[in-house]
Parts: sequence; C-alpha cells; structure tokens
Amino acid sequence: MSARERPVRRIVIVGGGSAGWMTAAALGRALAGQPHSITLVESEMIGTVGVGEATVPPIHEFNRYLRLDQAEFLCATHGTIKLGIEFEGWGGVGHRYFHPFGYLGIEMSGIHFHHYWLRHLAAGGDPDHSPYNLETMAARESRFAPATRHGPVHHAVHFDAAAYARFLRAYAEDKGVVRIEGKVADVRLDGEDGFITALVLDDGRAVDGDFFVDCSGFRGLLIEGALATGYEQWGHWLPCDSAVAMPSESEGDPAPFTRSTAREAGWQWRIPLQHRDGNGYVYSSAHLGHDEAEALLRSRLPGAPLADANRLRFVAGHRKAIWNRNCVAIGLAGGFLEPLESTSIHLIQTTIIRLLSLLPRDAIDPHVVARFNRDALHEYRTIRDFVIAHYALAGRDDTPFWRDVAAAGIPDTLAERIEAFRATGNILFEPGDLFGPTNWYAVLTGQGVRPQSWHPIADGLPDAELAARLATLRGRVAEQLAELPPHVEFLRRSN
Ligand SMILES: Cc1cc2nc3c(=O)[nH]c(=O)nc-3n(C[C@H](O)[C@H](O)[C@H](O)COP(=O)(O)OP(=O)(O)OC[C@H]3O[C@@H](n4cnc5c(N)ncnc54)[C@H](O)[C@@H]3O)c2cc1C
Repeated sequence: MSARERPVRRIVIVGGGSAGWMTAAALGRALAGQPHSITLVESEMIGTVGVGEATVPPIHEFNRYLRLDQAEFLCATHGTIKLGIEFEGWGGVGHRYFHPFGYLGIEMSGIHFHHYWLRHLAAGGDPDHSPYNLETMAARESRFAPATRHGPVHHAVHFDAAAYARFLRAYAEDKGVVRIEGKVADVRLDGEDGFITALVLDDGRAVDGDFFVDCSGFRGLLIEGALATGYEQWGHWLPCDSAVAMPSESEGDPAPFTRSTAREAGWQWRIPLQHRDGNGYVYSSAHLGHDEAEALLRSRLPGAPLADANRLRFVAGHRKAIWNRNCVAIGLAGGFLEPLESTSIHLIQTTIIRLLSLLPRDAIDPHVVARFNRDALHEYRTIRDFVIAHYALAGRDDTPFWRDVAAAGIPDTLAERIEAFRATGNILFEPGDLFGPTNWYAVLTGQGVRPQSWHPIADGLPDAELAARLATLRGRVAEQLAELPPHVEFLRRSN
C-alpha cells in the first residue's frame, strides 16, 4: 500500500449496529472540538444482525472511556451481571464446569496460584478449586456487588445489544455525529491509488470522505465489496456456520452467568436479561438442518418464546487486512468468531481503541497500517485458539459432529499451549491477551487436561504452610462472598 498524504478530516462510518454506534460514540468523544466531521450511514431497511448479548469484563473500560453511568447503562440495556460461563456437556455428556472471570487464588513468589494447586492435587487434595475464586462462588449463589472491602468482583454484563446501540446513538449524536438514513448502492474509488472517495446512496446522494469505517456487518460492503481484501477462513477448525436465536420469557430470577450447553451438532446459549432470556443454537449445517435446529431450540427453551426465530449464517475467520487503504473494518465486517466466549463486541472495542491510538492526521502511513493489522490479526488468532480449545478437548464422540470435530486437528499455536500445560503446568500467554492463566486453567482442566507437573518454585512451601495459605485464601473468598447482596437486589438498586 502506498502512503497517502492527505489530511483526514471527514470520517464516514457505514452501518448502525453495535459496531457502527460504538465506533461513532468513541470517535465523537475523542474528536470533540476538533475540525473533523463524523458521519454514520445506516439503512433501517437492511437492519442489524439482532444478536450479541454477552460480553467480557473489558466492556467497562470502553464504557468508562465514554464516561457512561453504569446504572444508567444497565437500566437502558436491560442488563444483568455476568460472572463467567457455565459449560455443560463439553467435557462429556452430563459433565459441567465453570469458566469464571477474576483470578484463581493469588500469585505467590511470582508464580501463578494454579502451580501450588497442582501440587496440592498431586498430594491427594480436594480437587474443587471453586472456593478459591470469588466469582465462581458468587455465580453459584447468585450474588453480586461491584466490589467488596477486599477488592473488585470481576464481571461483565449481559445486555440487549440493540438497546446498547440506541443508547450509544443518542450519545454519539450529542457529540456531533451526523446520521444519514440511506442504503449504500455504490462506492467510488480513486482511479490512481484505489482509496475510497465517496459512498453513493440508492437515491443518488453522495457522501464524500477522507477515511471510512466499514461497520456494514457480514457483507463487508467497503472492505470486501469495494476493496476486495480477501477473507481468511477457519471453518476447518470451527465447523459451526449457522445459528438460530430466539428470546424467551424469563424463568425465575436472572442468573449472573451465561450458560453454554454442548448439543448434538454444536451448542446452545442461554443469556438472562432483566426482562427476558436470550437463547440460541450455534450449529454446523453440514450436520444439522436449519428447520431441525430451530425445532430443537424451541423444544429446549427455558420459557415461552417471545419472538420469531432469527436465523444466521457465518464463516469463522477474518479479513486478510482489517485496515486496507483508507478503510478500517470493525465488527462483523472485519471477521467473526462464534460467540462461545462472547468475544465479538470485545473485538469491536479493541479495534476501535487501536484505531484511536493510530488515527491518521495528515497521512496514512503504510508502517502504521502494517502494525495495526499485525496486532489486530494476532488478537483474532489468540482468541480463535481459546475458542477452538473448547472443541478440541470436548470429551464427546456421541454424534457425527463431535467425531468430525475430534478429527479436525488444531492450529500449531494451540497444540503448543496444550502440550506445554500438560507437561509442565505452564500456561503460555502474552501480556495483553484477553484470556490469561485463570481462563486457560479453567477451560483446559474443565475439559479434562491434567498437567503432569508444576513450577519448581511451588515446591518451596512446606506442606503445613501451603495448607495454611490455602485455608486463608478460602476464608478470604468466603468472607467476601458473605458481603455480596443477591444479584436481583443489586439490579433492583441500579434501576
Ligand atoms: C449468532 C450470533 C451470536 C452472537 N452473540 C454474541 C455475543 O453473545 N457477544 C458478542 O460480543 N457478540 C456476539 N455476536 C456478534 C455481535 O452480534 C456483533 O459483533 C455485533 O452485533 C456487531 O454487529 P455489526 O454492527 O458488525 O453488524 P450488524 O449488526 O449486521 O450491522 C450492520 C449495519 O450495517 C448496515 N448496512 C449494511 N449494508 C448497508 C448498506 N448497503 N447501506 C447502508 N447500511 C448498510 C445495516 O443496516 C446495519 O446497521 C453474535 C453474533 C452472532 C451471529
């Protein structure tokens, strides 16, 4: 890509889903008072994908950047608290484990707690590590407050993504973002360097810009439709390519965690909001028909259905470049990983932050673009590996789907992580990775990996001292738990 030495003043966003309005809100806040114009074009006729309800803890950083009030945000989006994910049937039929947020135990002598825990297990200790993670215990007892006297309770939220987009639209328009209702029918490119110069709407209006953000969803109207960037597909590792979603009436108080239940040809989610449950079946169309998937989801809804089924198709993977020429793709336009670990909205957020940190002023520099793409694609790959780990280690061979998954193979990067953990107890991760040691430990051991060893420093504590420390940690978690009110009471107070 050549450098382009032209000021970037007119920023045009295509798409008004979560990605579009999150981008508009962040740019609106970042560039307030500057001579920039920010325009968002969306088409109500086309609509949004209409799903996306579970998040991961860094969502609060994004909301804090926008200075959103947490209570107002929860109320506007019918939000509930998420302390982790309960995986049912992934380690084998009838098996369950919890992947919590927060930390398992604490670091001691510079190494992660799980090394001491592995030593404790090898000596025949009680294998239940839940009492060492506050979030697991709070999820089990349906309790929550943002913090206790000893520190934060790590959490994300479940919310109505459409309500979040509406909330952010009001915010962005207040910051000067101009919304244009219209359908993009054509994209004009510069004859010399192929950069985008304007969008042409179906009524003939042209929207000129210096920089374009493609938030047009799976179709990738600019990044693919106009710039033919190419797509790296991961369907061979992640065979689910379809989903059917359907909200249902709430049954009882909302639980502060997501449920993911492995099924015959994929898995089913259940996400409790304040006013309803979100449900969906993510499946492989090579193994299950669309009508059959819908019927199965219906038969397994926890309450009466509240809307028609929303059927979706997708391909796991990402654009070969997330930033191409003067266009950055954010959200589904950039790529997609199935929502097993609720990472899409997070990827929107990190792409926005990355764009803000490298936003061009007078030139689009190819080195900046290359760094942006390198970091963005690295992030996709590390999250991909975490998602694939759930499938690769699933203890199931009871249907053709699970047998095909077992035969699919895994990326070398994931194989390295699993083997290193199995042999040494070490979790290989890089600073900045979304999923750290507690996450990997929970999923790898939850799905049956048993490390053969642990870090030598963990041998340094005498047995009695280790037992005393474990007792102190359990006591600390129990004390914190007792401070937490019921989750529903917390929600009531926030409303
Ligand atoms: C089954 C499923 C479950 C999911 N669950 C989760 C989850 O639990 N957690 C999570 O983080 N993420 C989840 N996601 C992902 C999440 O839904 C998306 O990341 C998020 O909604 C962002 O979507 P988007 O804004 O990129 O695209 P969309 O919502 O599709 O929005 C695209 C926008 O582009 C506009 N547009 C398109 N073409 C044109 C045109 N020609 N002219 C004008 N406008 C146009 C549309 O009108 C729309 O406004 C899930 C996704 C799927 C498929």
